[in-house]
Amino acid sequence: MTSFNLDKMNCELKAGLAHYTLGPASSAIDLNALLGKRLILKFQLEINCTHCGLKVKKAYSGGYCYKCSLKLAECDMCILKPELCHFAAGTCREPSWGEANCMIPHYVYLANSSGLKVGITRSTQIPTRWIDQGAVAGLPILKVSTRYQSGLFEKLLASELNDKTDWRKMLKGNIEEIDLIQKRDEVFELFGESLDSLENELGAGQIEILENLKPTTIEYPVLVYPEKVSTLSLDKNESVGGILQGIKGQYLIFDTGVINIRSHTGYKVAIEI
Ligand SMILES: [Zn+2]
Repeated sequence: MTSFNLDKMNCELKAGLAHYTLGPASSAIDLNALLGKRLILKFQLEINCTHCGLKVKKAYSGGYCYKCSLKLAECDMCILKPELCHFAAGTCREPSWGEANCMIPHYVYLANSSGLKVGITRSTQIPTRWIDQGAVAGLPILKVSTRYQSGLFEKLLASELNDKTDWRKMLKGNIEEIDLIQKRDEVFELFGESLDSLENELGAGQIEILENLKPTTIEYPVLVYPEKVSTLSLDKNESVGGILQGIKGQYLIFDTGVINIRSHTGYKVAIEI
């Protein structure tokens, strides 16, 4: 039986279908191939910090030991709220990490996860970010030079648009189609003046308005969507699983309920197939 510390599922888009694997690259489990089959995750009663490996009783910031959660830039509040980025003030917790991950081009996008939402992502994370959210379609609408700038624009657009996913709704499937191109045009119409004045503040050439891109659509490996979404957790049960009925976002959908793999980052599990 193979065992490892859980991390978010890896995903790739292949011919329009999300393809998921679980576990370290050397022994990754092809989850799509397990659809309709039995899969059990057995908690080994051990949680390890995803950064330093320290054995901990409880994970902080979604998978870290307390010390790492305090010192790593990726655990700072500005990751959740990029408009609070303090790199320019010289107080980034890890400037080299900031250089590599935040001070690089970002996209502001529209997506349909449980309905229309606005979000941001690094340029390298498309379409991964959308698959992680369980979005059925995504469309970048602005390209900016830093994470901080993307945060300013996201905050602006979120005054009129949703920026959260209702994950229960997302997992039930039957997501109504949205014409993202039409929505993009509406957003530009609605926010044109504010976009111009933000660009003036940030300096010319810092933002690119993406008027002509086409949406990416994403299908998920799901045999049956749950009618009622009941949540499974390794904190409550040492053993979780059943017949794998689908994979969407960072969730495994079993006949017994759903589990968010990402929120179990660092949990050591043995896999029984
Ligand atoms: Zn640590």
